[in-house]
Amino acid sequence: MKITVFGTGYVGLVTGTCLADVGHDVICMDVDAAKIERLKQGEIPIFEPGLESMVTRNVEAGRLNFTTDAREAVAHGVLQFIAVGTPPDEDGSADLKYVLAVAGTIGEHMDDYKVIIDKSTVPVGTADRVHARVAEVLKHRGVSVAFDVCSNPEFLKEGAALEDFTRGARIVVGTDSEAVRERMRECYAPYNRNHEKLMFMDVRAAELTKYAANAMLATKISFMNEISNLAERLGADIEEVRRGIGSDPRIGYHFIYPGCGYGGSCFPKDVQALARTASQVGYEAELLTAVESVNKRQKVTLFEKLSRAFDGDLAGKTIAVWGLAFKPNTDDMRDAPSRTLMEALWAAGAKVQAYDPEAMKECRRIYGERDDLVLVADRIQAVKGADALVVCTEWKEFRTLDGEWLKQQLAFPVVVDGRNLFEPSAMKSACLMYYAVGRGDSM
Ligand code: NAD
Repeated sequence: MKITVFGTGYVGLVTGTCLADVGHDVICMDVDAAKIERLKQGEIPIFEPGLESMVTRNVEAGRLNFTTDAREAVAHGVLQFIAVGTPPDEDGSADLKYVLAVAGTIGEHMDDYKVIIDKSTVPVGTADRVHARVAEVLKHRGVSVAFDVCSNPEFLKEGAALEDFTRGARIVVGTDSEAVRERMRECYAPYNRNHEKLMFMDVRAAELTKYAANAMLATKISFMNEISNLAERLGADIEEVRRGIGSDPRIGYHFIYPGCGYGGSCFPKDVQALARTASQVGYEAELLTAVESVNKRQKVTLFEKLSRAFDGDLAGKTIAVWGLAFKPNTDDMRDAPSRTLMEALWAAGAKVQAYDPEAMKECRRIYGERDDLVLVADRIQAVKGADALVVCTEWKEFRTLDGEWLKQQLAFPVVVDGRNLFEPSAMKSACLMYYAVGRGDSM
């Protein structure tokens, strides 16, 4: 099939590449000319395991092309995927300006039937707005061309995006048109061979499904963080509680890890946007508001624990930070807990000496050159000459730690573990002051 994808970020690039990989003829269009130039040179602007070789393979096979030319992009595909950003607006609702701009572009250039697919995460009712925008532009052009708009939200996780796209649990499509169903079946047939993963539903249900999924996952995280704060105060070990509740199949082990709060480009903005949608229809989504505020509070706990260890005096201290990305296997630092920590440390007059396997370039891009941020080549150099260590991201390479060795590197024996990677007893026997999440403080 001929397919066009608007946006070459995490979702657009993965969608376009995976669809090309099963033989479709794909053009990815982006307004960011520098990004498209890099992609044409075979350079991948994001870190996503396995993506680079898949892009190269499909570009070489001639099935995957990149362009900034809107006319060429619209002319190409019968399927027009919209996979551009939907950042939070000032009031927390999803800003649809990029989505509607693409709708306008499609309306401007289309001369034959198109299925326009909202793959971006968009509030309920957006398909109607996209439809209206395209119709308005067509009317302005004085032409009549048939088209349909459907919703096909994306559930991939950064860091496992290819696996999720190709072997995800479900492919949700919201439409009431048989013509659309037929084309979406054909598009996803290669990924739908072993069991029926395609779920057709009403457009509004599909749009809400995406927000409900993210809100549910964020709720599990905030719930666990709430219980871990309680465990900390009650002298219970949250890791034992986690095993205790996870063993119940109604609860399960997924997404119940306590930590320093969720980040990334999706959970924070999607929980907020869903709460905003609720208030727009006169419903106060109390649970969603609580999920968000628990998360905001949780992100501050790393700094609070550190500050407590230094009696509130962090001025002039050098803090080693392991992990900058909001989670492992990505370079994404959007809303990452590391940012809340570093910004609080800088405000308190401390210096950060940080290492992340993938996100250092992104960190430099966000914060630029500054005296109180030193980025080093590995985790060992990060602790050299530092006063304390904070773990923000659970990268695999951080999971082992020789407590005796660490004690010798740090000027003060303080470790704040935002991901509960280490055993409190081992930390204690190395005479480290170890602050984890929901496990009491072993000193
Ligand atoms: P992103 O910011 O990484 O990429 C968006 C891209 O769209 C950018 O390259 C930008 O230049 C481009 N763009 C903007 N306006 C354009 C236009 N008019 N025409 C063509 N390109 C344009 O965003 P992302 O992380 O890929 O997210 C895209 C959408 O998918 C969002 O709605 C997001 O909520 C949703 N989503 C993201 C993830 C994730 O893990 N990142 C997962 C599921 C869903």
